[in-house]
Amino acid sequence: MNKENVALQPVRGTRDLIGEDQRRHAHVIDTARRVAATYGFDEWSTPVFEDTRVFARGLGDTSDVVMKEMYSFTDRGGESLTLRPEATAGVCRALVSNGLTQSLPQKVFYAGPMFRYERPQKGRYRQFHQIDVEVLGSAEPLADAEVIGCGWAILQALGVAKDVVLELNTLGDRESRDAYRAALVAYFSAHKDKLSEDSLARLERNPLRIVDSKDEGDKRVVADAPTIHAHLTEAAAAFYAKLQDHLARIGVPFRENPRIVRGLDYYSHTAFEFVTSQLGAQGTVLGGGRYEGLVEEMGGPHTPCIGWAAGVERLSMLLAEPPPAPRGVAVVPVGEAAEAAALDVLQALRGAGIRAEMAYRGNLKRRMERANRIGARAAVILGEAELARGVAQLKDLGTGEQAEVPIAELVAKLG
Ligand code: ATP
Ligand code: MG
Repeated sequence: MNKENVALQPVRGTRDLIGEDQRRHAHVIDTARRVAATYGFDEWSTPVFEDTRVFARGLGDTSDVVMKEMYSFTDRGGESLTLRPEATAGVCRALVSNGLTQSLPQKVFYAGPMFRYERPQKGRYRQFHQIDVEVLGSAEPLADAEVIGCGWAILQALGVAKDVVLELNTLGDRESRDAYRAALVAYFSAHKDKLSEDSLARLERNPLRIVDSKDEGDKRVVADAPTIHAHLTEAAAAFYAKLQDHLARIGVPFRENPRIVRGLDYYSHTAFEFVTSQLGAQGTVLGGGRYEGLVEEMGGPHTPCIGWAAGVERLSMLLAEPPPAPRGVAVVPVGEAAEAAALDVLQALRGAGIRAEMAYRGNLKRRMERANRIGARAAVILGEAELARGVAQLKDLGTGEQAEVPIAELVAKLG
């Protein structure tokens, strides 16, 4: 206990992962890692904190994350550091720092904790976790299709694809976007009186953001706003058509949603979200798009990239069945003299990769109770008389059946 004798709590917006929560969490990450590997993605890890400029530049200084959500602090050496709010900027920084800009494309898988100062609610935390996939250094729509296809394959492997829809849009190339921006400024200027304060502030600087607004009043104005499609250049429209062909070919269903614009400053062409109606307001489980200029912001060459990030907590909540708790073998010595032999049996089982445990104390009854409590599938009971004959009692804790088994055969029987 601390001085005031009050139990300390986790920080607001953070959670402990124990038992089923941890199993769900690990299952999401393990599954994503395995599927991403089949697509040829290599896992990277970068530091949890970075020079604040990595994110201030990386996300663009008008993004919500940078303006309102970053955990930034000055360290003892006077440097401004930030706990990463997302993975992409750090990955692009790492591409440059590690001299990999000449070895493109790089296909990166990422998993880890992220930090945002947000209002905590179901599916929204201050420390949360993302899985993330990026192709750095490819301008081909085939890369977009592969990245999206990998996301879809992960959702399928998790058994949640049936609850999720891919919403797809394009933001076109620079020329398309400039024309679209002008059309948006004209439209929103005519409806200024109905826009939220936030959106008014974005009107000149970044009108695309208004399309993304969660404000109800804004949403009504946005409903009739022009979409980008009339403003796409021929090349941008061709890119988008190619991507749709590829997605159809690899069997990823999607529906077009011209309101998907994504929050960051560097997006171009593809923008997409996998959304669900199962999680209330926190309906986006996975979001991403194509971006340019980010690697340049980190001091590297112009590098076209495509990627996505998904919230592990939101995916964990969507899992229908929690992964089952592991069921091991309980080794139960009867009497002190049997304990040494029991240690040998434990070593042999563990050496063969079998989950095995022995209570640290207790008589036969106590030990059997514990075996049941930890959900052991079997108990290996070692009595002194049996030990003398080189055998053990093997009890199936599911059926209750018990049989005598030579100790030398335990590993084969339980493996
Ligand atoms: P939202 O609109 O829900 O705030 P976002 O656009 O900020 O999402 P991204 O930056 O694209 O989200 O992050 C990708 C994914 O990470 C989201 O789709 C979501 O699943 C997850 N995510 C984002 N912020 C949080 C958070 N605070 N807590 C839990 N998961 C989050
Ligand atoms: Mg957000």
